[in-house]
Amino acid sequence: MRTHSVTRESFDLFCPHCNIETEAPVVCQANVGFRSSAISQFDEIDAEYHGDTLYVALCRRCRSPFLIRQSLHGVPGEFETITSEEVLYPATSRFSPEGVPQSIRRVYEQAVRCYGASSFDAAALMCRRTLEATCKELGAAKGSLQAKLDFLAQNKTIDPRLNEWGHGIRAVGNEAAHETDAELSKEDARDVLDFTEAILMYVFILRARYAAFEKRRRKPDAPSPQSGPTQGADPDDAGPWTS
Ligand SMILES: [Zn+2]
Repeated sequence: MRTHSVTRESFDLFCPHCNIETEAPVVCQANVGFRSSAISQFDEIDAEYHGDTLYVALCRRCRSPFLIRQSLHGVPGEFETITSEEVLYPATSRFSPEGVPQSIRRVYEQAVRCYGASSFDAAALMCRRTLEATCKELGAAKGSLQAKLDFLAQNKTIDPRLNEWGHGIRAVGNEAAHETDAELSKEDARDVLDFTEAILMYVFILRARYAAFEKRRRKPDAPSPQSGPTQGADPDDAGPWTS
């Protein structure tokens, strides 16, 4: 196995435990996945190659581990460059807002940025605003957020559990807005962000995905029970779920 000339002694990474950018010294590394364009062993000396190096690094503050994959490209004796570095563990983002309407996504991404900057009250406030924007998108525009959520639950646009989570987010968002004595904890802010993501996931992403799944599974000559005698009804018009 070739010894790479490009090696790292530490990485600057975002530690989800410390919730800050931190230095993580490397404690061990291994070269993996070496691929050379050489046809024979004798060609390897000047043949282009690609290879990966796996690193284990520990956060300098809390000692949490990271697994990083570094990809390299080079020609022996000429050059070796890093083509990418990816943190494999811990997962940095569990939720991609792809498919969430832009107006809601913009507010949600502010919540994520506030959380990343340890502004937990601000993160909870932005989650509450994400919920407000979601209600508006779903057709509930009148009254308090509480009334909007209940309206959506009553006409079965959101199911009872989402309604319950929505009320939880609303309550924490209200506290963050009005209580100046106690700052919201990191754990509560994380939970509020997680529940907000779950609501966006159910309302905008899984619903569209299920409609696409049904459409794919439906045989051309067998209309689905929902579409009744009218063949080829648009699954996007299937209306809110009734679970
Ligand atoms: Zn840390």
